[in-house]
Amino acid sequence: MGKPTGFMEYERAEAEHRPADERIRDYYDFTLPTDVEVIIRQSARCMDCGVPFCHAGVAFKDGVIGCPLGNLIPEINDLVYRKDIEGAYERLTMTHPFPEFTSRVCPALCEGSCTLGEHELPVTVKNIERYIVDYMLEGGRIRPRAPRTHTGRRVAVVGSGPSGLACADMLNRLGNDVTVFERADRPGGLLTYGIPNMKLEKSIVEDRIRIMAEENVTFVLNTEVGMDMPVIRLLGEFDAVVLCCGAGNERKLDAAGVGLKGVYTAMQYLSASAKRLLGNASREDALIDAKGKRVVVVGGGDTGTDCVATAIRQGATGIAQLEILPCPPESREEDNPWPLWPRAQKTDYGIEEAIALYREDPRRYLTTVREIKGSKGRVASVVAVRVEWVADRGHQAPVPVDGTETEFQADMVITAMGFTGPERALIDQLQLEVDARGCVAADRSDYKSSLPTVFAAGDMRSGPSLVVRAIDEGRRAAISCDRYLNEEKNGKIANLIA
Ligand SMILES: Cc1cc2nc3c(=O)[nH]c(=O)nc-3n(C[C@H](O)[C@H](O)[C@H](O)COP(=O)(O)OP(=O)(O)OC[C@H]3O[C@@H](n4cnc5c(N)ncnc54)[C@H](O)[C@@H]3O)c2cc1C
Ligand code: SF4
Repeated sequence: MGKPTGFMEYERAEAEHRPADERIRDYYDFTLPTDVEVIIRQSARCMDCGVPFCHAGVAFKDGVIGCPLGNLIPEINDLVYRKDIEGAYERLTMTHPFPEFTSRVCPALCEGSCTLGEHELPVTVKNIERYIVDYMLEGGRIRPRAPRTHTGRRVAVVGSGPSGLACADMLNRLGNDVTVFERADRPGGLLTYGIPNMKLEKSIVEDRIRIMAEENVTFVLNTEVGMDMPVIRLLGEFDAVVLCCGAGNERKLDAAGVGLKGVYTAMQYLSASAKRLLGNASREDALIDAKGKRVVVVGGGDTGTDCVATAIRQGATGIAQLEILPCPPESREEDNPWPLWPRAQKTDYGIEEAIALYREDPRRYLTTVREIKGSKGRVASVVAVRVEWVADRGHQAPVPVDGTETEFQADMVITAMGFTGPERALIDQLQLEVDARGCVAADRSDYKSSLPTVFAAGDMRSGPSLVVRAIDEGRRAAISCDRYLNEEKNGKIANLIA
């Protein structure tokens, strides 16, 4: 513990953001670097409380307590307080391969469980993590570390999102020969083609891929396993396969008019925007543009907010965001006590920007779409209706309230209503067992699917989740896969001896 009285002396200092009216003019990161002296004082607020829930990462009731990766947060804070930033990075990367991603996009589950947070504002764990990794990146201090051992075994990882990257990284460190197959033209999964540049600049993802490639991980792009690469060939050529294909099936809006021109899903919209920024947009992608348009975003979650922020940067003239759920409470309620993750309303970056630009909060709670109206085949307006949540056979269900309709003029509608689960093609080809949500059935104890040499991790196994959880799953699946291959080898040797 750096400073025993730090938590009494220093207030929490949030990471600072560029002013909303300035940052909406570009797609660069909206978070400003934090001064080292501020970071040291913030690390001094860590109480070394004895039972650091922040790094527990355990499921409790209907939530999770702390960082899923089990980052050694009090130890890291102590090293930062002592100005040993490289030591802090070493400690951080004992449990976490890619802090440059989470320090930008993680909701900071750790902070929701910080003991100081029971009575005061929690330690700024995420921003301290960001300082550490940015210090290492800026000084060119993160260097490739190729594995020292080689098992001679070949493992294929399908999908290069955070779970696939974490899995490949760990398998490689354990001495396996790893090939990552990716359907897209660039690796990174939703880190590249989902999360917008202002939250996670793509150069950060590219730098990590370059380091991994230098560490001997092979990336094969533009290759959809099951289409361009037959699964039979994959199973034959590799000793094991880890599926990390995400949960890309978007929830569909069930309303008249969804087929009109100008209606897009969040992923169509965000990936087109990302491709335009990266300079590899198709002609169709280039046409998906909110410039000069009135936009309605259906869905009030984080993806919806990313769509709002992107539409603002493209030059939308007005935005409404419809959310079917009620507005969350301002702070955690009695049934959601510390150290659980607090369920409370937040005004995220895109909403802040919309309020700054249009002088109005775009969010409309307890509201859904009744109909999308068109003119000459293009979207013209959205008829929204208020809902009431009523008990229906043991569940709460939204029921539209007649007479509460509002019509929003719209030239573009983006549906950001979440994801229902993984795509089925590859799962069906492999005839894998799935769970009730359609995710690959694989237990968290070993990540093994119903096929002996096939493992699954990330959103494809867990359902739509978070980057930090995908990284955790990828690492654990890699360790399980490696253990399985070791046992196989030892079994074969034992059989030979017998
Ligand atoms: C718009 C958006 C914003 C988000 N923002 C955040 C955030 O700020 N913070 C956060 O923590 N989480 C965020 N999330 C969630 C987070 O991105 C996901 O939970 C995480 O990326 C899941 O990782 P994954 O590796 O399991 O899958 P993905 O990232 O989805 O990667 C799967 C990869 O598999 C590839 N693939 C699929 N099938 C095949 C095949 N047959 N052959 C080859 N490749 C294949 C896909 O092309 C893709 O690249 C966001 C999600 C979205 C959609
Ligand atoms: S990865 Fe996320 S939850 Fe874990 S320590 Fe970092 S910010 Fe906290």
